Amino acid sequence: MSPQHIGIGMTSARTRERLIQRLRDEGIRDARVLERIRETPRHLFVDEALASRAYEDTALPIGNNQTISQPYIVARMTEALLEPGPLENVLEVGTGSGYQTAVLAPLVRRVYTTERIKTLLDQARRRFQALNIRNIVTKHSDGGMGLPEYAPFDGIIVTAAPEGIPLALVEQLRPGGCMVLPVGQRDQQVLVRVLRTDDGYEREMLERVAFVPLLGGVC
Ligand code: SAH
Repeated sequence: MSPQHIGIGMTSARTRERLIQRLRDEGIRDARVLERIRETPRHLFVDEALASRAYEDTALPIGNNQTISQPYIVARMTEALLEPGPLENVLEVGTGSGYQTAVLAPLVRRVYTTERIKTLLDQARRRFQALNIRNIVTKHSDGGMGLPEYAPFDGIIVTAAPEGIPLALVEQLRPGGCMVLPVGQRDQQVLVRVLRTDDGYEREMLERVAFVPLLGGVC
């Protein structure tokens, strides 16, 4: 088999289907989410040298010391975000490769996504254009502050871990809205779902996770 054929094989429908089956086995139930993972070409969100590993259920490096999240985690967070009810405007903090954004965008009205590293954001923008996804607004900013100019949001998804729940983000959720985020230091992070109430918020611990830290400032 020529290298070209191997390349096609690794990103084939069968390889993707194997990933979907694995996500089902791991407990992902939402058919809309599984469909989005099946339809989103993850091999276009990593460097060509890693494309053959794109449908493994593992995080991969994307440069600048950052990683594209494991498909299971992307599916789990998307499912947790959608579960309480339909979402229109969603804020994502930590665009990274843009993969999570691309999985989520067709399931909501609009995604506002913010990334602090310009080179990563520029690459992600080119991917959204190439895939003709038109309901994503990208911002080069410190997402820990949220995007007050577009608030309130129905949902917020954070793909880097702060040490505690950022109140600036809770305040940009509309009452009834929800936020899914990893919280804590590297070895003891938990995925948390925050439900905004009229006079505060409620927290629900989902499972243990390992994300890169949420950092301040832009570069
Ligand atoms: N969802 C991404 C995961 C990327 S890793 C994907 O699927 O590829 C987390 C990303 O969060 C990194 O790109 C990192 O630069 C970014 N990040 C960390 N702190 C941030 C902040 N305060 N504001 C915006 N982005 C941040």
